[in-house]
Amino acid sequence: MIKLSKRAQLLKPSATLSMAAKARQMKAGGVNVVSFATGEPDFDTPVAIREAGKRAIDEGLTRYTPSGGLPELKAAIREKLRRDEGLNYSDDEVIVTCGAKQAIFDALQVMIDPGDEVIVPAPYWVSYPEQVQLAGGTPVFLKADEGNAFKLTPSQLEKAISSRTRAIILNYPSNPTGSTYSRNELAAIAKICVERNVAIISDEIYEKLLFIDAPHVSIASAHPSARDITVVVNGVSKAYAMTGWRMGYAAGPREIISKMSAFVEQDNSGIPGFVQRACVTALTSPQDDVTRMRDEFKLRRDLMLKRLLAIPGIRCHVPDGTFYLLPNMRAYLDRNIGGRQISDATSLAEYLLESAHIATVSGDPFGAPGHIRLSYATSRENIEEGVRRLAEALAKLA
Ligand code: PMP
Ligand code: GLU
Repeated sequence: MIKLSKRAQLLKPSATLSMAAKARQMKAGGVNVVSFATGEPDFDTPVAIREAGKRAIDEGLTRYTPSGGLPELKAAIREKLRRDEGLNYSDDEVIVTCGAKQAIFDALQVMIDPGDEVIVPAPYWVSYPEQVQLAGGTPVFLKADEGNAFKLTPSQLEKAISSRTRAIILNYPSNPTGSTYSRNELAAIAKICVERNVAIISDEIYEKLLFIDAPHVSIASAHPSARDITVVVNGVSKAYAMTGWRMGYAAGPREIISKMSAFVEQDNSGIPGFVQRACVTALTSPQDDVTRMRDEFKLRRDLMLKRLLAIPGIRCHVPDGTFYLLPNMRAYLDRNIGGRQISDATSLAEYLLESAHIATVSGDPFGAPGHIRLSYATSRENIEEGVRRLAEALAKLA
């Protein structure tokens, strides 16, 4: 028998992707599942972007591209960062990756040695702890208080930094909480990181899906020296409904980006040229589709929140952005149904799927025990029907 590496033995599959797959499987088997599990926009990729991709295939962009990305795409990314964040990067400070997921993965690979610590504020996106561990590092979880909108405070951060701390992963707006940080909050965090020499991996993939009046601010621009210690991560998956196209990018210090580029060369040789060409269209054309999708997500957030808060016992923080809600379900834990014990968020999510055919994701793999994550990247009808089922299923718990 082939022996599995220790890394592989420790590795867990993605809880979000597994739940989405389970819901899809049940649907394929004829079960009428309402899925709040999927972390991807339900909209189609805008037409102009799709057309650009098709044209690029016909124009022959079907060969290897430079491993850091097509120059025209890098230029579009640099222009986007300048326009939106006032951040100036040169060509060798930007890299195109296979989704934001690979950008974070490779940034960790080039920065972390065995024994190094990476601070991960909780709740966190499910892939961070696994990616830190695959790099040999130790995730250090810092529980962000629900009463503080699930946001890390500077004093919490200050206390958690040890001589082994190398980096922090910040995600704002956050999956799963939807919270974002203001410029002042980011400046305070950046100041500590600069002073203590802690690198920042800044995951800004939900940046365009903000419902508040204040604009998104990148931590790299929030403090005069933050840019030197930050790897900004972003992509097109969420803003442009392009999850399947698999384009992400990172911008940061030259020495980090050039090593990430070597990683790409050794591991996947970059993403298809025609995808990159389509992404140039996404980043450089009028952004009306982004606004349209964002506005619809906001309506759905309001609808789902309203219906959810009408269920006795459910509390829910109001997210600033993304397409997730993270309701506190503690009022429904330690309950029973037909001899079955609902002891934690994971058993609650299982019960909801099996008995009420609603797919949710337990908060446990997000470091949010007692909560479940609901994605409202689905139609308003599904939201109405799913929350109706949820209320009914919860009412049955004794
Ligand atoms: N970061 C967060 C917080 C996410 O939710 C996702 C969703 N998949 C990603 C990164 C990765 O996005 P992608 O690889 O599709 O660009
Ligand atoms: N990020 C999305 C989610 O959290 C998509 C799945 C994944 O890559 O984890 O559901």
